[in-house]
Amino acid sequence: MTVAFLGLGRMGSAMSRHVVDAGHDLVVWNRTPGRAGPLLSAGATEAGSVAEAVRSADRVVLMLFGPDSVDEVLTEVTGAAPAGALVIDATTVSPEDSRRFAARCEHAGLRYLDAPVAGSIAPATDGTLGVLVGAGEQDFQDALPLLELWADPAKIRRLGPVGAGSAMKLCNNLALAYTIAGVGETLRLGADLGIARDALLDVLAKTPLGGIISYKRPMLTSGDYSAPTFSLELLAKDLDLALGAGSRDLEVARAVRATVQAAVDAGHGGEDFAALAGYLA
Ligand code: NDP
Repeated sequence: MTVAFLGLGRMGSAMSRHVVDAGHDLVVWNRTPGRAGPLLSAGATEAGSVAEAVRSADRVVLMLFGPDSVDEVLTEVTGAAPAGALVIDATTVSPEDSRRFAARCEHAGLRYLDAPVAGSIAPATDGTLGVLVGAGEQDFQDALPLLELWADPAKIRRLGPVGAGSAMKLCNNLALAYTIAGVGETLRLGADLGIARDALLDVLAKTPLGGIISYKRPMLTSGDYSAPTFSLELLAKDLDLALGAGSRDLEVARAVRATVQAAVDAGHGGEDFAALAGYLA
């Protein structure tokens, strides 16, 4: 396989590593150059432009910030990738975005599927992510050997046609937003009532908030959110996508989104999303 991997952020850097480690030809590109160091040592090539990266690729992976960045990068991909190449979009976008991107690719003689991932830096590094796929069966089968490089095969799910993976991913991250906001307000009440943070976390760990508390406990205890796995600005982006995706209002999500914005405005956007709990507490 000749793979072009576009986007070497926190997730893209970890995911693309598996491609070169498996012996495939890997060409990487990132908007800000200079992020490819360890990949180059492992045998990858860095392209100076998107067009150069995709020119000989039969698989093009996008792992970018969100819909606006995919829109921009896809303009170059559709102008340069060989006919029939399969574009695998791992970026979290909305189902409507995915369908629009698929139409653009089809118009250019390319194939597109949405394959956003579940899990963060650690499973990306270990190659045990989940993947939520929206695709036709043939495109799914053609993408599988690549997806299996960064994912646990048991956690790769084709959920329906293009857009179905993105739809599930937005629901996944909406749940994440509710839970971290819930932790924050629960910590706030506990502090008002004079309960020590550690004692409160011990008890909350046995409640329905337990999953997120055990995942983020070191940050919640130390109050240091400065080393993000998933940043608060990405959560803000995903909440905007969720709020725009359904046919009915999500009033609780709107309230959480307003609080996320207040936290971003207070300077926490580049921190881990758990900073929302710290901000609320
Ligand atoms: P990062 O913020 O670490 O990386 C974002 C990437 O997008 C960088 O490569 C950045 O390039 C690139 N980018 C941003 N804007 C543009 C643009 N206009 N044109 C071209 N490239 C652009 O994000 P993550 O790696 O954490 O996340 C990537 C995607 O994966 C997001 O959609 C996120 O929602 C999703 N995701 C993240 C998870 C996580 O735990 N982090 C988990 C699951 C999904 P540059 O270096 O130049 O800024």
